[in-house]
Order: sequence, then structure tokens, then C-alpha cells
Amino acid sequence: MKILVLNCGSSSIKFQLWDMLKKESLAVGIAEKVGLKGSFVKLENSKGQKVKFEGEILDHQIGIEYILGILTSKDYGLLKSLAEIEAVGHRVAHGGESFDKSAFVDDFVLEQIEKCIELAPLHNPANLRGIIAMKNLIPDIKQVAVFDTAFHQTMPEYSYMYAIPYSLYNKYKIRRYGFHGTSHSYIAKRACDILKVDYNKQKIVTAHLGNGASMCAIRDGKSLDTSMGFTPVEGLIMGTRTGDLDIGVVNYIMDKEELPLSSINTVFNKQSGMLGITGVSSDMREIQNAAKNEGNKRAQLGLDMYSYRIKKYIGAYAAALGGIDILIFAGGIGENSPVIRKAVCKDFEYLGLKIDDSKNDNLRGEEMVISADDSKIKVLVVPTNEELVIAEDTHSIVSKLN
Ligand code: ADP
Repeated sequence: MKILVLNCGSSSIKFQLWDMLKKESLAVGIAEKVGLKGSFVKLENSKGQKVKFEGEILDHQIGIEYILGILTSKDYGLLKSLAEIEAVGHRVAHGGESFDKSAFVDDFVLEQIEKCIELAPLHNPANLRGIIAMKNLIPDIKQVAVFDTAFHQTMPEYSYMYAIPYSLYNKYKIRRYGFHGTSHSYIAKRACDILKVDYNKQKIVTAHLGNGASMCAIRDGKSLDTSMGFTPVEGLIMGTRTGDLDIGVVNYIMDKEELPLSSINTVFNKQSGMLGITGVSSDMREIQNAAKNEGNKRAQLGLDMYSYRIKKYIGAYAAALGGIDILIFAGGIGENSPVIRKAVCKDFEYLGLKIDDSKNDNLRGEEMVISADDSKIKVLVVPTNEELVIAEDTHSIVSKLN
């Protein structure tokens, strides 16, 4: 039986088809520009065969219909019929306080995801549209929701509360939720498998460094703290997001630039971060290139600020955890940038953290231990695989129903 994994964004649908017996991804693809001009679906199967279909994709349902059509097409031999799909697993951004694990989608779960739209107005509506579209297309299909926030529901109160009037928490559930939970838990468990140590007895710091980026402190298999908060803008410096910022700056800019609330949101989410500092790009490759080959000072400043912020979080999490056993890098930048990994790990010898430059310098996109043999803290690069976790959770939840 096969599991279809869907990650529905506002104008895109990422998908992956998994064979759970072989634990193998059979095809991966994306429908892009959903609801916009020039929409298309791209797919690559496990043999490297690529296809692209251009056509009008007015909404998520039409997009999913396209995807199902391609998956069942004789030309690619992926599915003989839709009946081969055991279940569909959806990435859902926000589960609020209602979900500390993945959930079988029934009417109650749908209602809760809808309630969380207030907390994730940019993501949950599209996630919900994907679930409903799937239900419309195959009414008896089993569906599972896998939440980005669920893993962090173990954070203790002192870690997730903001020091704002408690009544505002009671009224609006304003607190830190954290995101990227599926990735943090996957890379932490995978690192423990590689090191052959008990995941439930480690002090782990994970750094998921992609366009969005966050860190997590994991003690004995549970998220103790994470850098993203009520929204994904808190914490690390990201491609276009500020990360931690004095809220006094918000008022000041709004006043001086005469900006309404809607615009200030755009400034901090879309025009800040590495793009804002460097003026080069939000893309780490272009920034590194500008700093190294063009001597661009703002690009170098961006790189320095980027690694310094991560360093500060490692220090904070070492304090919170009472030491660190394992440090893990993942995400496009964590997996592919030896320069950033090296800058982050520099000057941590006092904590017992030493990386092996020869291992670090040559490593891109592979699982590997990059710490020196005598490093007390093991440092690893673990390419994340959120789709596998979604497929596994989905398979495991629906298997118990049968
Ligand atoms: P998303 O959060 O969108 O999934 P990714 O995890 O794909 O993002 O990460 C995208 C980031 O990874 C971009 O900033 C990109 O520049 C960076 N990246 C990818 N390859 C490299 C590389 N070889 N060196 C440095 N950065 C890289």
C-alpha cells in the first residue's frame, strides 16, 4: 500500500508518493502557481524520469486532481488505481494546544484545524483546503494531519509563556508554539540511530537552517525549548525574517515611516533577515558568493550576524539543558554550507565542541558526524526528511484503524 504526502501552501501543492513496505519514495513533485497564471505540475519518479504538465489549476482541488491523474497514468507506472493509496498524510502548520501528535482527520480534527487558522492565517487555510479537496475527490479516503507544532507541545510552561498579561494568554492563547517540529524530531532521532545512543537519554540541540530557520533544545526525547514562537518570525535570522527583535523597533518604524500594521508585517517577514541586511538576496549561496568573491561588506556582515545568532542560541540551550551531547545541522544551509557550520562551531572548545575541518569542509547534503574524534559534543549533519515522517505517522495511525 502507498501513502500520499501532501504539503499544501497558498499557491503550491508539494507531494510525495511513498511505498511503506520498502520505505521508499516513488515520486516527488509540486503543483505551482495554483490559482495564478502559468500554473503547472512537475513530477520526478524514483528512476529520475521527469515530467511537467502545464494547465490551468484554478484551485487546490483541481491541482490535486491533476496530481492523482499523473500518479495513475499508465505512462509512469506509479499507481494502477487510486485504490492503491492507503491514506493521505498532510503537513499542517498549526495544531495550537489541541495536538501533541499527528491525528486521524475526522470532523473534530477538521474543526480544530479550522480554529487554528487564527494562529496561522497564512498556512492553515491552504492545509485545510488540501484536506477538504482530497475528501471531495475520494470521499472514503483516510487522512492524517501531521502538525509542525506538535513536537513542541512538551515545552514546559516557563519555556513557552511570554511575559505579557496572563489574561491575554487566557483570552487568545498567545504563547510560544514553535514550528519545524517534524524536522527537529526526525533529525534528532536519526542522529541517535547513527551514533547508536538512546534518544531518550540525550541532551540535543538541533538547527534546522533553511529559508525559514529554527533551533530546538531536546532533553530526553522531548522538546524543552525552540527558537520560533507564536509565529515563525521569532528566533534566528532567516532569509527574509528578522528573528528576535526589540518590539520597541516596531513602534518606532511604524511611527517614523507612517506604516500601517499590514505593512510592518511585510517589512519584518518579507524584507528583513539576510535580504534586508545584505541587500544582495535571501539566498545563502548568493550571499556567500558576494562576501567571498566580491568583497561585499554587507554580505559579510549578514553572514557574521547569522552565525552569531545561532551561536547565542547554542549557548542558551547549553544552559537550559545543562550541557549538550549532540548538535545537529539540517535544512538547505545546515546541510550544504561548511562556512556557516564552521563559523557557528568556532570558539566552542570550552564546551567540549570541536569540529573536524576536513570532514566539515567537504560535506554537502549527506549524513555525517563532523566533530573531531575527541570532541565531547558530537556534531552531525543530517539531511531532514519531513515527508518520510509524515508518511510513517500516517501509515502507523491508519494501520491501527484497520
Ligand atoms: P526551505 O525552508 O524553503 O525548505 P531549504 O531548506 O531548501 O529552504 O534551504 C534553502 C536555503 O539553503 C537557501 O538560502 C539556499 O541558498 C541554501 N543553500 C542551498 N544549497 C546551498 C549551498 N550549497 N551553500 C549554501 N547555502 C545553500
